[in-house]
Amino acid sequence: MGRNRSAERRAVFLDRDGVINRNVLNPATGEFEAPLTPADFEFVPGALSAMQKLQAAGYLLFLVSNQPNFAKGKSSLHVLKAIHGRLVEGLTRRGIEFARFYYCFHHPGGDGNRYARFCLCRKPSPHFLLKAAAQFRIELRGSWMIGDRLTDVECGKFAGAKTVLIAEPPALGSVEPDAIVPDLSAAARLILLRG
Ligand SMILES: [Mg+2]
Ligand SMILES: [Zn+2]
Repeated sequence: MGRNRSAERRAVFLDRDGVINRNVLNPATGEFEAPLTPADFEFVPGALSAMQKLQAAGYLLFLVSNQPNFAKGKSSLHVLKAIHGRLVEGLTRRGIEFARFYYCFHHPGGDGNRYARFCLCRKPSPHFLLKAAAQFRIELRGSWMIGDRLTDVECGKFAGAKTVLIAEPPALGSVEPDAIVPDLSAAARLILLRG
């Protein structure tokens, strides 16, 4: 049987921290990072509405997130799971369904636990996008990756998807996204406009 292109779906792949929820100031490092406790988890204003609109437009939603804090000895898997629970809680309340939540818990510079190693899934690797494409029959060229780091943009480009960087311009480095916008609401508007 021939391949039925019309059966292919489009997706939006979303980074989590700094896109869906706010990055949080870590007093130990002085940097804005992933939330360290469930209480730190706070949705970016407008992010839930933006995801609802993308879902309503027929895009499959996927989370693609690097969470190296357990591998680095900075958090427990229990806490990371609880933070994920806050995300799911908020999405569920608004009727937003993700097709998959892809987390990479690895980090090559970790402290010796089982996630402290090189892996194939850590962004900028396109591993999870390719996996989703195969499993859910996604047309990557018609799909988007949204993130707040250049590694997110690289990840999307390596997979052949279009990319949106959430940042205050100018934020250009060695890799150029298709667009730079200030937040997820603006990213959703752009995607719905450009298709
Ligand atoms: Mg991020
Ligand atoms: Zn990994």
